[in-house]
Amino acid sequence: MKLPPLSATLLPWYEKNKRPLPWRDSRDPYRIWVSEIMLQQTQVKTVIPYYHRWLDAFPDIASLAKAPLSKVLKLWEGLGYYRRANNLHETAKVIVENHNGRFPSDPAMVYSLPGIGKYTGGAILSIAFGKSAPILDGNVARILSRIFALDDPVDTPKGLKKLWKLAALLLPEKNPGDFNQSMMELGATLCLPQEPACLICPVSELCKAHETGKEQDCPRKSGKTKIKKVRAACAVVSRDGRVLITQRPASGLWAHLWEFPTFRIAEKEDAGSFLTKQLLTAGLNAQKITLKTSLRRAYTDHVENLEIYGCELSPERSKTLSVPDAPFSGQWVKPRELKRFAFSSAHAKIIREYL
Ligand code: SF4
Repeated sequence: MKLPPLSATLLPWYEKNKRPLPWRDSRDPYRIWVSEIMLQQTQVKTVIPYYHRWLDAFPDIASLAKAPLSKVLKLWEGLGYYRRANNLHETAKVIVENHNGRFPSDPAMVYSLPGIGKYTGGAILSIAFGKSAPILDGNVARILSRIFALDDPVDTPKGLKKLWKLAALLLPEKNPGDFNQSMMELGATLCLPQEPACLICPVSELCKAHETGKEQDCPRKSGKTKIKKVRAACAVVSRDGRVLITQRPASGLWAHLWEFPTFRIAEKEDAGSFLTKQLLTAGLNAQKITLKTSLRRAYTDHVENLEIYGCELSPERSKTLSVPDAPFSGQWVKPRELKRFAFSSAHAKIIREYL
């Protein structure tokens, strides 16, 4: 396959049109790492204030490594995909312990760090260290699929292998970091999923999908990913001016975050009876359970309908949460004290709107 001279066209365009983002033009691997992790699945305008707050609190790897996890999670609150914050914290500790606090520049070492995959590793290596490391995210996959009018679905191993190969072949020897950033910028500003701005695109003359009018057909997807629907019930339990919160386990989704007790329930389950039983096993006698509202949470492979129930306890004193067999443990906290704890976005919304 003859490769189009992409970098010769894209680099001057990027130099002239790049958005002035706070992490742009930095060669500090720590800053690039933090920005790339924050930008995963998250829009630039959402990330910017988090990025500034993060760097004020943790200006370098050492300060992040020695911070308590509760502070790290509190700063991340609202940004979603909390595993990213846990990984940043864990990896900072590994870098302090194994690399004297300096971000490694050796590709094998970078790719072996926890939470750093091929994409993030490629971004850090190319932008911070000028190494010839390709990147491939949704934006770059879309651009390459269109420029080469690829038939292979981008969500299959075969399609991904081809795209990684192309991303590596197109990488110029000089300025690989700027080239990678120019691809990200093109995908974020012009080569958009729904309405690509081909008329003002700097590479339109090199783009096969544009030439053949197939922009909307690329990238192709196998359509094999089926999004499941699931249900969850959340109990907002109050007693004596305090509300019950529980902490998530140390691993898995929303590790270490706090929430109102929440349970996955079956499609036809009666949520009121289910929550009554759950609360009873923790020594809490619910007298009245009322549906307040429901929220929709979307994940990569499923959509969750989170039903929020207000739970009134029976006037005869319910026991404290110290029952050995209780399905969860928790704390009774005054509403004004809740800001000391880190919650996922859905639970932060419950606090804002119902407490
Ligand atoms: S010409 Fe259109 S489809 Fe092709 S890369 Fe540019 S914006 Fe994307």
